[in-house]
Amino acid sequence: MGAVEIEDVRDDLTTILYQPTQIERRVRELAAEIDRDYDGQDLLIVGVLNGAVMAVADLTRAMTIDCEMQWVAFSSYGDGTTSSGVLRILKDLNVDLTGRHVLIVEDIIDTGLTLSYLVQNLRHRGPASLEVLTVFRKPAARQGQVAVKYVGFDIEDEFVVGYGLDYAGRYRNLNGLGVLSPAVYRRS
Ligand code: 5GP
Repeated sequence: MGAVEIEDVRDDLTTILYQPTQIERRVRELAAEIDRDYDGQDLLIVGVLNGAVMAVADLTRAMTIDCEMQWVAFSSYGDGTTSSGVLRILKDLNVDLTGRHVLIVEDIIDTGLTLSYLVQNLRHRGPASLEVLTVFRKPAARQGQVAVKYVGFDIEDEFVVGYGLDYAGRYRNLNGLGVLSPAVYRRS
């Protein structure tokens, strides 16, 4: 498989949290849960760009039920490693949500700001159901207002890269998940 291997960027990481095989296994488990929960229903998956691209691609291909995929994008953290707290919709959905079963797929939830904004926004559009899946979840999100139905991994409060998550546009196609070394952000 032609992706960036953890060993290729080992010097940029302080810790390797998950190997690709561990993520693959967990994604398959989540896909099986979704298959069961949405069997016979009209499922619309809403991926949050850009980070959830890998998760949506892997999840939907591990699922056996049919679904539609749509994408939303928000202004991001920029090149920093902490939230600016400012959020703008850069790309909205172009389908009617009325009566649809909607599953939001996030890469990671930190403060939950992005998610609560999105959930409130989509709830007003009349979906039959609205649930959330996140691949990674940080401690702050566990006290969050928004209920998350599917969680891949609970992680510590550290800035991570890989499996769709970037730093300054890099590391998204890293196969596993690692903690970015502070030396990397000091360098840039
Ligand atoms: P929240 O709104 O929950 O604070 O942040 C969610 C968004 O911030 C994620 O979708 C992701 O884009 C970004 N983010 C939060 N934590 C991390 C992290 O540890 N690494 C990376 N690369 N992005 C993060």
